[in-house]
Amino acid sequence: MRCSVCGRAAVIKLRHANLRLCPEHLVTRVEKEVAGAIRRFRMFSPEERVLVAISGGKDSLALWHILAKLGYQADGLYIDLGIEEYSTRSRQVSEDFARGQGLTLHVLSLKEELGATLDELTRLARGKTCSLCGTVKRYLMNRAAWEGGYQALATGHNLDDEAATLLGNVLRWDEGYLTRQYPVLPGEGKLVRKVKPLVFLSEREMAAYCLITGIRYLYEDCPHAEGARSIVFKGVLNQLEDRYPATKISFLRQFLKVRNRFRPPEPVVLQDCPSCGMPTAADGLCRFCRLKERVSHGTPA
Ligand code: SF4
Ligand SMILES: [Zn+2]
Ligand SMILES: [Zn+2]
Repeated sequence: MRCSVCGRAAVIKLRHANLRLCPEHLVTRVEKEVAGAIRRFRMFSPEERVLVAISGGKDSLALWHILAKLGYQADGLYIDLGIEEYSTRSRQVSEDFARGQGLTLHVLSLKEELGATLDELTRLARGKTCSLCGTVKRYLMNRAAWEGGYQALATGHNLDDEAATLLGNVLRWDEGYLTRQYPVLPGEGKLVRKVKPLVFLSEREMAAYCLITGIRYLYEDCPHAEGARSIVFKGVLNQLEDRYPATKISFLRQFLKVRNRFRPPEPVVLQDCPSCGMPTAADGLCRFCRLKERVSHGTPA
């Protein structure tokens, strides 16, 4: 198998892009795609500061590495959720990476911020782990970005993640979620702009990129991911992709072309939470502060 660009030995075949690439040209392609997505969707400029949400997995570490390599001012944020040994290992990998690359990593501990780890919160809230996790992570990431003076918050969602999310949204015809599924969500007030620069890169490409560039990441998934709907959707999409290459990329790209046809939800009026000062649609305490109050009283969420 020969590289489509230079004719040397190829190490990966990307059927969806009709390419076979050697290590050098895989790296070039990934970095070009990231730079192109940032430009095309006006995610951020070199003058702006970016906070990258770091999980210890391949996507977030590779994204951080690429942004730094492209000359962007990118710091990392790791949230220690307190999920048994998984959090210990993912934190270690993230800290080692930051140290090795000379990058700044901020670390927040859910136990310190909320008074409970995710495992303790789950017991209190009777099993809604991923939904609670989403709530606390979104809140802490946005607050950290806002308080740290960052203009954008970047996450490592890749093509496989976005296609699976889109499939879930389409199966429910959820117009609100469909109109919000976009590589960049503008900021407003204390809500910091959200960006996804890996949106057109597949999981295989990101894993290969890490292997070639020597990025050591955590291979294991969060124990709570097992049985998640997104995993099932990814499996279905992989079967389709095997049979009909480029299914995922065209599903996502075509959606982005027609997305404006969906009706956005009525805009909600946000007000400042009386406790933490962050924006909330609720009348009174924000969801995070309500959870915190319940944790301190030991009552179910
Ligand atoms: S899988 Fe783990 S990290 Fe992901 S949302 Fe669920 S609890 Fe959080
Ligand atoms: Zn090549
Ligand atoms: Zn609050």
